[in-house]
Amino acid sequence: METVIDEAPCLLVALVSELRLDSLTKADDVLLELNRKFAAYMKSVFPFQYEGKVYQLINNYVASPHMRCDVCGNYPLIEVSIIRSEDCQQLHVGNNCIDRLTNRQVSRWFKNYRKKRENVIRNRKYIDGLSLILNASRRNEPAFQINDSDIKKLSLVLEKMVNGLNPDRREEQIAECYMRRIK
Ligand SMILES: [Zn+2]
Repeated sequence: METVIDEAPCLLVALVSELRLDSLTKADDVLLELNRKFAAYMKSVFPFQYEGKVYQLINNYVASPHMRCDVCGNYPLIEVSIIRSEDCQQLHVGNNCIDRLTNRQVSRWFKNYRKKRENVIRNRKYIDGLSLILNASRRNEPAFQINDSDIKKLSLVLEKMVNGLNPDRREEQIAECYMRRIK
């Protein structure tokens, strides 16, 4: 029943790879890359022992409705990891338990991942806008003659947002100022 939600990032990667990648915007690309990192991170967490069985981390998401930890009984869980044993038993596990079982700061990684993803979605219009402007400027399009110092500033703002950080007020202003040109 949970399969659709559980497998969503992997499915998205598979789905998008069948589309023409050049029709994606810059923000789409960044989100796709984040999805790849999500899948790669889960693979990087070594299988671990719990109650005599070997488990693998297979997903992590924000639970709705809230769940109970199958390991310690903690309720309600807001962030849930799914682990699966070799004989396909699935357990829902809270942050403290997944960190303890894997002996890694798994919950922190996912929190950080989700924050970055939220920021990229929130800054989508700037990421796409600045990327269009900088590309046009590189092609020397007459409407996009930008001086070197501003190109540098805009590139840094773009890079910051691509890395999942939020621009400050001044950075937003310079982005908006240039983006008015493409409306
Ligand atoms: Zn627990």
